[in-house]
Amino acid sequence: MSDIATDKRIELLGLTADELREFMTAMGEKPYRARQLHDSIYRRRVTSFDSMTDLPKTLRRLLDERAVVTHTRVESVFISSDGTRRFLLKLGDGREVEAVFMPEERRDTVCISSQVGCPLACDFCMTGVMGLRRNMTAGEIVSQVIIVLNEVYGQGIEPPHGTNIVMMGMGEPLLNYDSVIKSVRLFADPDGLRIAPRRVTLSTAGIVPRIYDLAREEVRPRLAISLTAANDELRNRLFPINLKYSLKQLIEACRSYPLGERERLTFEYVMLDGINDSDRDARELVRLLSGIRAKVNLIPHNPAPELPYRSSSMERILAFQKILTGAGLPSFIRRPRGQDISAACGQLAARHQASA
Ligand code: SAH
Repeated sequence: MSDIATDKRIELLGLTADELREFMTAMGEKPYRARQLHDSIYRRRVTSFDSMTDLPKTLRRLLDERAVVTHTRVESVFISSDGTRRFLLKLGDGREVEAVFMPEERRDTVCISSQVGCPLACDFCMTGVMGLRRNMTAGEIVSQVIIVLNEVYGQGIEPPHGTNIVMMGMGEPLLNYDSVIKSVRLFADPDGLRIAPRRVTLSTAGIVPRIYDLAREEVRPRLAISLTAANDELRNRLFPINLKYSLKQLIEACRSYPLGERERLTFEYVMLDGINDSDRDARELVRLLSGIRAKVNLIPHNPAPELPYRSSSMERILAFQKILTGAGLPSFIRRPRGQDISAACGQLAARHQASA
């Protein structure tokens, strides 16, 4: 393992303004120094004390001895022919996670991880194959956005478009609840990254009690539910978590989730050839979601050698979509992004490129 794995210096990224003030006070520094530090870390995305030239040199040296902005490092970057970039990131203990940058015409989307691995073992997802290694800290979650934006635009440069964040990388965000909520608050900070909660989407496989908790949060991300099956028999097979929280319980939680004026709940439906893609499946899905302000994202299944599924054909996906649309249920077909670099949904497993 590299030297960062043994670096015991405290990671400042992830601390709130209050926590940074406590840290600086304990070092005998004035509160305004903490504000400068906060501004450098979160607004200007500066990751080395050396570049914080508004701080005295002696203080910068002292900070260097005791702390780091983040332990997260870029291990490698893979660039797709469609402009998608996959980042393999190394955390302070040497564990690896992945984040994906997707440029779009009007905005960028950064897809981030919330856990190293995932315990849910969904049958069609690569991250499930690797199992859970550990939860990520709030600082590690936020570091992905800071590092990706710095890599793409340069440190301190304001991204020309807005940034959307989707928690659809590795891990189940609702099984790392406190750190995920803290990271949403840090994203939203008007003195920091300024990424509003409505620009952050949390995707869950259905940890029902945590959906009720989320509904009560003041700073609340948009919610997406990975559904992919409209009956318990099939969902039990694809999502082991469904044995614990049934579809009925999940849909009940969705019905009670508070929505903004024009907000809809997103339901992700991975299209699996011959498994969940018949006309009958589509009608069952319409019935299940009736009365919910919902939209459905149809996601062609992204393959991996370890996964026993194939994507439905585009023809089948279009026929499936037609039934949803005909019933007044808005649905969108998601174009796979970065498939050639294993950056697409469900392909993240912190693997090194085979050739590397
Ligand atoms: N644990 C969370 C977030 C990670 S998965 C969740 O389950 O929502 C992010 C999205 O990728 C989910 O909608 C999931 O259903 C989808 N996905 C997983 N594996 C996939 C695959 N092989 N192809 C396409 N989408 C996949």
